[in-house]
Amino acid sequence: MHICVMGAGVIGVTTAYRLLQDGHQVSLIDERDQPGAGTSQGNGAQLSYSYVAPLADPSVWSKWAYYTFSKDSPLTLRPTLEAAQYRWLFEFLRCCNAQRVRRTTIDLLKLAFYSRDQLTQWNAGLDLQFDYQRSGKLVMFTDTQGLDAAAQQVQFQAQYGCQQEVLSAAACIRIEPALGRSRRDWAGGVYTPSEEAGDCPQFCRALVAVMQADPNFRFIGNTRVTAARTQDGSLQAVQAGNEWISAERFVLALGAESADFARQVGLSLPLYPLKGYSITVPLEDETSRAAAPQVSITDISRKIVYARLGQRLRVAGRIELVGRDRSIPRRAIDELKSGMGELFPDCRLGEDATLSPWMGFRPATPSGVPIVGASPVGNLYLNIGQGALGWTLACGSAALLADQIAGRSRAIDDAPFRYAA
Ligand SMILES: Cc1cc2nc3c(=O)[nH]c(=O)nc-3n(C[C@H](O)[C@H](O)[C@H](O)COP(=O)(O)OP(=O)(O)OC[C@H]3O[C@@H](n4cnc5c(N)ncnc54)[C@H](O)[C@@H]3O)c2cc1C
Repeated sequence: MHICVMGAGVIGVTTAYRLLQDGHQVSLIDERDQPGAGTSQGNGAQLSYSYVAPLADPSVWSKWAYYTFSKDSPLTLRPTLEAAQYRWLFEFLRCCNAQRVRRTTIDLLKLAFYSRDQLTQWNAGLDLQFDYQRSGKLVMFTDTQGLDAAAQQVQFQAQYGCQQEVLSAAACIRIEPALGRSRRDWAGGVYTPSEEAGDCPQFCRALVAVMQADPNFRFIGNTRVTAARTQDGSLQAVQAGNEWISAERFVLALGAESADFARQVGLSLPLYPLKGYSITVPLEDETSRAAAPQVSITDISRKIVYARLGQRLRVAGRIELVGRDRSIPRRAIDELKSGMGELFPDCRLGEDATLSPWMGFRPATPSGVPIVGASPVGNLYLNIGQGALGWTLACGSAALLADQIAGRSRAIDDAPFRYAA
């Protein structure tokens, strides 16, 4: 069967790979010349399988004033004229209750563990090069209240197979000595030894290179999908540049832009772009390499994440609801640099131009649960809304969708991920 996958971010690339493995003919389209060049390009690089807590959390209610008005808030809400922003926010706030968060966490943990198994399995056969390592992760807290709440979460997640420990600040520093020079007064942290990290765009490019050896695969880069032709409730063809591409099945994986395409075929998707930024610090000298962490770090109060990628350190953060503004304000980059300076003061930070300042839009659903599966348009499948966890959830989402398309039994229950109008 010919299947057309729209979008070559990590979600589209992994989906294409699983479908190709099932013996389908696959066309993968992207408006950029390389795969993984959208939001998948500069993300936080953490494969965060056990730390999946959604943004929609009951604490949002008490922190709302801080998030909206404080200069130091890692979250920005700039009201726009789009109805989509208000609709998304309304649904998001409805998800900010303990019962919903528990359900979301369980669903995401199952998908995340499945994803980890898939990535391990694929990579055992392919040996892709993407600075992949099981580095472990420390989520660091400066307030005891936050750490106590995290301890409860650790206890809750233990019944779902997460192996995590709550540690004192000194114990965290023993695990990651680079934190010993940080200028923060840590209350302690949560350590998850099984967490991984890897370079997402390198992974996408390596996987596409593998697929390109298969005559059933075609990557159509530099080509924007602009229109859709439907008949009798099914999608017949999509316009990609000057070409109309027909297929028996289509997969929508256009990341944060998926909702625009969906509107053309009469579908409304609960997606909103949550903007974030990153820098990539080249660790050029021995002192910087020794002073940078090997373990992935999340600084919870600043909402900044750090991941070691070989001789580089990825630093990412901020969550902004500001519409489609693609600018990279100096303030956002300064914030990441100052977070880096506070935590790892002996790492040399060069000029901004050497830090590859970057922005991307997390394709987010209000609850944080992605949508993976059939849509009301007969032969159009959705693989969207992985939000802040797209790198982590990609291989599992791809495998789940391939099972659905094949009509096979699923390794995990797909009900939580189905599209609901
Ligand atoms: C600051 C930040 C930090 C993050 N950190 C992490 C992390 O540590 N761990 C983690 O798991 N996740 C993280 N994420 C989330 C993760 O990066 C995303 O969930 C993931 O990249 C989404 O992948 P995608 O394939 O859905 O979207 P994308 O990567 O954006 O792919 C969509 C593709 O569609 C293409 N496209 C769009 N419109 C069209 C069109 N009309 N025609 C043709 N092509 C089109 C784009 O060019 C793009 O390549 C982070 C995100 C951000 C912003």
